[in-house]
Amino acid sequence: MKWVLAAIVMLWSGAALAAPIRVMILDGESAAAYHDWPVTTQVMKRELQDAGIFDVTVVSAPRSDSADIAAFDPGFEKYQVVVWNYDAPDWPAALKTKFETYMRNGGGLVVVHAANNAFPDWPAWNEMTGLGGWRGRNKAAGPHWYFENSKLVSDDEPGPAGMHGKRLPFRMVTRAPDHPIMRGLPERWMHMGDELYAHLRGPGRNMTVLATAWSDPANHGSGHDEPMAMALRFGKGRIFHTTLGHDAWALSGVGFMTLLQRGTEWAATGHVTQKVPKNFPTADIASYRADLAAMDPAIAGNGKPK
Ligand code: ZN
Repeated sequence: MKWVLAAIVMLWSGAALAAPIRVMILDGESAAAYHDWPVTTQVMKRELQDAGIFDVTVVSAPRSDSADIAAFDPGFEKYQVVVWNYDAPDWPAALKTKFETYMRNGGGLVVVHAANNAFPDWPAWNEMTGLGGWRGRNKAAGPHWYFENSKLVSDDEPGPAGMHGKRLPFRMVTRAPDHPIMRGLPERWMHMGDELYAHLRGPGRNMTVLATAWSDPANHGSGHDEPMAMALRFGKGRIFHTTLGHDAWALSGVGFMTLLQRGTEWAATGHVTQKVPKNFPTADIASYRADLAAMDPAIAGNGKPK
């Protein structure tokens, strides 16, 4: 009898392990026309599906300035992680409370690029993201966070939050090699042409900076090593935040894909089971070109950085 029970338990836990991770990609809005979210959602959906461990549902919110937003309830609790490809200025209080409760109870959140521009006046959102930019953020949002002499530092000087230069390729530097998301990644690797977000401000609480990139003053940069990937906690919830990913081009490097897949798994479960792909880019300035071969030709042909 005992071994029958043990076999049942083993079968049950095996089935549970094999069940795909339930992912919601939330989209539906961007400030002005800066971000083509219908396209970037499709790129990220495919990248997550390619990992083979996620069950991905896209939820598009009604516009936050429409009457429909009052009745919007995406059912966060049905998902293990929400990938936020969404930038709205504000939400009704009840909706904010729903998401805060989901996160405090152990939900997962992945913040991609301009999602950190959203909700400047929602304290819990700013705590979850750690850092944000634009939409009127200034000194009141928190200090500017960056790396100096291999350490995370903060600067409380007054001024706006958020800047970037032209979309050139740049080098990522791993800062937390023992974090599950970063384990096995090279110390330095090239990222595709993308907006390098700099001078972001925020509370920076419960935040581990996983990777930085140098913001070059010759390309309208800050002259600092700026946070590019972070892991955060909010209540029992886990957050993976990357400032990378302006457009389909920027999303299509093997480096970004790997971070998205691993960051989403970690935010959902606290573990990373995926292997680092063999064609992961190196620190060689030319290595990001290898990524182009792995890209969808339609994206490689149409999304060249400006
Ligand atoms: Zn952008």
